[in-house]
Amino acid sequence: MWVPSELKKLVAYQPGKPIEETKREFGLSEVYKLASNENPLGPNPRVVEACQKVFSELHRYPDGASMDLRKAMAEFYDVEETQLAFGNGSDELISLLMRIYCIGFPKAAVLMPEMSFIAYKIAAKTHQLQVIESPLKPRFEVDVDALIQRWTPETRIIFLANPNNPTGTYLSGADIRKLLDFAESRQTLVVVDEAYYEYARAQDYLSAMSLLPDYKCLAVFRTFSKAYGLAGLRLGALISSNEVIDLVNRIRSPFNLNIFVQAAAMEAIRDQAYVTRSQQVTWEGLDFLTTSLKAMGYDPIPSQANFIFFDAKESGRDLFDRMLRKGMIVRPVGNYGLPNHIRVSVGLKNENEFFLKCLKECRTT
Ligand SMILES: *Cc1c(COP(=O)(O)O)cnc(C)c1O
Repeated sequence: MWVPSELKKLVAYQPGKPIEETKREFGLSEVYKLASNENPLGPNPRVVEACQKVFSELHRYPDGASMDLRKAMAEFYDVEETQLAFGNGSDELISLLMRIYCIGFPKAAVLMPEMSFIAYKIAAKTHQLQVIESPLKPRFEVDVDALIQRWTPETRIIFLANPNNPTGTYLSGADIRKLLDFAESRQTLVVVDEAYYEYARAQDYLSAMSLLPDYKCLAVFRTFSKAYGLAGLRLGALISSNEVIDLVNRIRSPFNLNIFVQAAAMEAIRDQAYVTRSQQVTWEGLDFLTTSLKAMGYDPIPSQANFIFFDAKESGRDLFDRMLRKGMIVRPVGNYGLPNHIRVSVGLKNENEFFLKCLKECRTT
């Protein structure tokens, strides 16, 4: 049967290697995973309790509009309820926006900096869109002028993860404004994906959320997979203009948020102390790992997120394999075209220490 040639070539998203699988494969009893930027604190007990209360409603359809969650989130983010749409993870939101703004537009393209979060590219290829990438500055920093320069009349969406995964770099508020001014005049949607917003510490970092009143072309993503510790339940939030939101709500599947995630996210928003603890443990671990890696002769890229990205100066894949045998799962980034780089998520103190111990034992340079 006919299928588009783009789909035959498509390489699916590669998730981090699961802990259980690693235990079985290598006969290990203890395995640490610092490969998916998950929250090292484990689930929030208050959220677990909120989920347990929902079991009695298992036979009911979820609230398709997520009314209670929408109210809670609108209040928390200080936006109108009509400015919010939800996805089964940010993944779903990426795809929904592509369907709205790209499908049916001749030769539609999406534009992003090189080394952007790979899910954008995979989704673009899935929807058979052109992908345009702009070159980075040294040290993987986004060059906003280069991004603007690469814009074409076919460009329908510009994706920008801020801070970005896998590099951990960020774009300043001034640069974001520059991009938005350009995009607004070209009627091009700009998605600013703030999955790591809660971890950004740079003085000149600015959440695009504060720019929503000024730009119609702006859509912001927030996720509950990282600082809120809900990766397994899947929740991405889209904050944008009423027009964008209305379109998303028309085409999304009607029950894309299940009853558990709706209850969980409401409780997660109420318990900001968990987010504060996530930030504290992450920042402490990030500083510790950065210092330790430098002492080992590496040169990690300064990170505004909950992971560190560095040049291992040897095959990242081989290093990953050797560390795996010791029970340490990290992330090689060969799929980003960088065979010698490794991304490691910040874990608890003992996890970070175990990572450094394994790295010392496994490195060959
Ligand atoms: C982890 C991450 C997300 C979150 O994705 P979900 O589908 O919401 O779990 C979004 N964007 C970036 C850049 C990420 O790294």
